[in-house]
Amino acid sequence: MRLVLFGPPGVGKGTQAERFARARGVPRVSTGDILRDAVQAGSELGRRAKAIMDAGRLVDDDTMIGIVTERLGRKDAGSGFVLDGFPRTVAQARALDDVFDDGRPIVVVSIEVPEERLVERLTLRRICANCGWTAPPGVTVCERCGGTLVPRRDDSVEVVRERLQVYARQTEPLVEYYRMRPTFRVVDGDQTPEAVAADLAAAVASVGGGRL
Ligand code: AMP
Repeated sequence: MRLVLFGPPGVGKGTQAERFARARGVPRVSTGDILRDAVQAGSELGRRAKAIMDAGRLVDDDTMIGIVTERLGRKDAGSGFVLDGFPRTVAQARALDDVFDDGRPIVVVSIEVPEERLVERLTLRRICANCGWTAPPGVTVCERCGGTLVPRRDDSVEVVRERLQVYARQTEPLVEYYRMRPTFRVVDGDQTPEAVAADLAAAVASVGGGRL
């Protein structure tokens, strides 16, 4: 199972990626989480990425392709993975195709939500200050470690606007890159998380007759 979850910030990729990956026993690889961990650890990557992330822009392709290639080359990704937040540019998508050119398909599911709902969702979103877990709406303490929930640094209204513009400019063109493939699907993200998860499972099952 090689799955790419695609869609704008706030569409629910992280929540769905986590559920799907757990159900299938494959790792969820979130490039945003990898970068946030690096920022928290104060590594060289974290120091470079912090200002870019705080401004809502994209970290450069070479850095991101290097991170993902290394991560997906690890043993636990051997039987598959769910990618969340990568690729975000056509160059990243090409690199992913180059790494996995063995004939096993990469399923790409685009989750769609009307744009006006995204700003609302992002500004209401809370993550754990301690472990970075993203809390579903209504939850008040981290279910993983009991930590305090806080807004994400890049979820302020101004940065959200920038991130949505960056998405429209640099990431949305990827739909054209993937649209004609037999392994591309679209799922309506403007539903309950359970309903989106059910549609996602059905979309994946419909690729390759459910043999993936
Ligand atoms: P996310 O958690 O996926 O919304 O990512 C948070 C931030 O990390 C983004 O706004 C970017 O600054 C950076 N980032 C995450 N993934 C990528 C990527 N594939 N390419 C470039 N920048 C990324």
